[in-house]
Amino acid sequence: MSDFLSNVRTRMDKAAQHMTVHSEVLHRLRYPMETLAVSIPLRRDDGSLLQLKSWRCRYSDLLGPTKGGIRYHQDVTADEVEALAFWMTMKCAVMHLPFGGAKGGVQVDSRDLSNMELQRLSRAWVEAFIHFIGPNRDIPAPDMYTNGMVMSWMADEYASSMNRHEPGVITGKPIAIGGSHGRSTATGDGAFEVLKVMQDDLGLSDGQKRMAIQGFGNAGRVFAKNAARAGYTLVAASDSRGGIRRSDGLDIEKLIEHKENGKPIGEFADQDGIEKLEQNGVLAVPCDLLVPAALGNQITEENANALTAKVVLELANGPVAPDADRQLRDREIEVIPDILANAGGVTVSHMEWVQNRLGEQWPEQDVHGRLSKLMKDAAERVRSARKEKGVDMRTAAYVVALSRLCEAATARGTSDTFSPNA
Ligand code: NAD
Repeated sequence: MSDFLSNVRTRMDKAAQHMTVHSEVLHRLRYPMETLAVSIPLRRDDGSLLQLKSWRCRYSDLLGPTKGGIRYHQDVTADEVEALAFWMTMKCAVMHLPFGGAKGGVQVDSRDLSNMELQRLSRAWVEAFIHFIGPNRDIPAPDMYTNGMVMSWMADEYASSMNRHEPGVITGKPIAIGGSHGRSTATGDGAFEVLKVMQDDLGLSDGQKRMAIQGFGNAGRVFAKNAARAGYTLVAASDSRGGIRRSDGLDIEKLIEHKENGKPIGEFADQDGIEKLEQNGVLAVPCDLLVPAALGNQITEENANALTAKVVLELANGPVAPDADRQLRDREIEVIPDILANAGGVTVSHMEWVQNRLGEQWPEQDVHGRLSKLMKDAAERVRSARKEKGVDMRTAAYVVALSRLCEAATARGTSDTFSPNA
């Protein structure tokens, strides 16, 4: 059993202690349903051949066809893919989406590939997994180092292999070929809806409302703009090369423009009263709301004591390592967990899939309205579970997810249904 998977599963086991859940359901969710490993040959532009390890895991389809991204990364492993697929299972369940969880990965440094090579790889991936994926079976999406264009190639390849147009086989496509309005801002927008529901309970409504963002990328910027409109002040931000801080607040629009010009965030420090920070310095800057929006495992046992925030909102996947959960709880730092906070992306992906199946394209404001309602409803479910069970918000989110999965399993019958005495 992978360390990665057993690590993330501890959170499910913890939630199970606070609810009635049939042991069969827990047992079923302990292991992935199926993982396919394929070695993909890629002919390079110079004539040489690369043999690339690749996996797709469908972790659970209790709630519907499985859903999850595909990442191209040199360090991706089968263990990691399975753990991420487990996470997607929980994320779709907490949102009450009719999807199970999946993930895919190709072990490759895509920065070394030309666009022709990238296209050959993406088409070869679809050929290798053609019977594994499908609009009613398993629906991939972009993840690290895959984007809308990769999704276009994949959708094209699927259509030509199956001899029919099937845009619902993949989400995160460009709008012109069946993507959804609102997808590119969905994660940051959705996280802000969750914050609005939670902020009173978490003591964030009054006072200064200072926020710090680790990873001022797509999700971080959209979240920052929304939060600033609601009175939050951005006091620190970082990217992969460093960070900056200004206790009176940074100008978000100017900072976005600076990043869109391809400049590192550190170069923004030449302006009035802005200080440069060390790489992870942003985590310890005095603030009320800390938003890790870059990578996993950033807040660990080693640095958790340096945090000063009242609340951590996990915009990235898994930025708080499981070993730091207890320390944050002991220090009364509340964490708004990733499976809820960053679920806006998969929620609009679901809308893209529905639009594709209906042959429609919804206006941006319809997508926003639906996203806002679905995020608020999910946040209210987690908020109620937190109060009712007297647990932290992460455990509450897992209680909500597990309840949904449990309902879906028991609707099909358990040992209680089938025992001779039933
Ligand atoms: P992005 O690539 O647009 O932004 C990531 C940012 O993090 C970049 O600015 C990068 O410079 C910065 N970064 C990288 N390493 C860093 C480090 N060590 N310290 C500080 N900053 C660092 O990606 P994104 O779409 O904004 O996604 C951010 C995170 O949110 C990822 O973990 C992603 O998996 C997660 N997420 C994104 C979505 C989505 O729809 N975009 C959905 C769910 C989860």
